[in-house]
Amino acid sequence: MAYAIGVDLGATKLEAGLVSSDGRVVRSHRVPTNAQQGIDAVLAALFAAVGEVRGDEPVAGVGLGLPGAVNHREGVVVHAPNARCLTGRNVVELCGRGIKEPVRVDNDANLFALGEYRFGAGQDARSMIGITLGTGVGGGIIWEGQVLRGADSVGAELGHMTFQYDGRMCGCGRLGCVEAYLSGTALEEIYLEYARSRGFDPDPQVNARRLFQMYENGEPAGRAIVDPFLSQFAHYMATLINVFNPEVIVVGGGIAAQPALWEEGVRRIPDACFAKTARINLKPAQTGDHAGVLGAAALILFPETEKT
Ligand SMILES: [Zn+2]
Repeated sequence: MAYAIGVDLGATKLEAGLVSSDGRVVRSHRVPTNAQQGIDAVLAALFAAVGEVRGDEPVAGVGLGLPGAVNHREGVVVHAPNARCLTGRNVVELCGRGIKEPVRVDNDANLFALGEYRFGAGQDARSMIGITLGTGVGGGIIWEGQVLRGADSVGAELGHMTFQYDGRMCGCGRLGCVEAYLSGTALEEIYLEYARSRGFDPDPQVNARRLFQMYENGEPAGRAIVDPFLSQFAHYMATLINVFNPEVIVVGGGIAAQPALWEEGVRRIPDACFAKTARINLKPAQTGDHAGVLGAAALILFPETEKT
């Protein structure tokens, strides 16, 4: 049995886990990332968490998932808006101060997809797209065992595909991204705009989950907001299918728990597909709480090959 340590370094929390090649998380440990305290504090948290999960098992390496755009070949974080102290840093080099095994890095969305591909709902597929619909929208593309990152590691930004060129403002500063329509944050903003346009005070309790309940109950605000959401979701899935024709699309994140997404949302996909015979195979994510750790460990446990 081979082992690797996977680390999910998020903007607020950091989780390290010792993972076996059959996908078991043998031990895991969570600590605050301390990103506001700067890079040295983050490294101290990282080294401590890795130390906590180390045991007698031989560790092949440490995989590290980072929040932002990452040049995986050089190990440099290109842009990390939620953990700014990482931007411009060569994380692989910095890890050498406290980790003796080889270190590989990638962005968290790619690693969510890789974790599902190796250990979750994409295990039986050769080609897979993983999408998370949560606070934001992220995703990754895995093809024949390779993470598809693009020529300069800045591709596969599936949450920032343009839905409408002059559309809603996205957190990335551009207009009309998928994330500005299909994230939990977007749903809450759309609800506030809806309340304003109808002249009523928005209920501060209303979040994405509650909006889906209101949709199921047939309440006007729920219908007015979630119904277009489901059509937009269907078109988004159809666009991915039209371009990539993956064997499976795995959907995770908080919104993936909503039955309406899997019923009405999925029902609307075929009409939006170019090829009427296109395979439409969507599955809920399976890696759950340890998704980030499993994906990061998979970077080490299943090395990718590159053309030489
Ligand atoms: Zn965007």
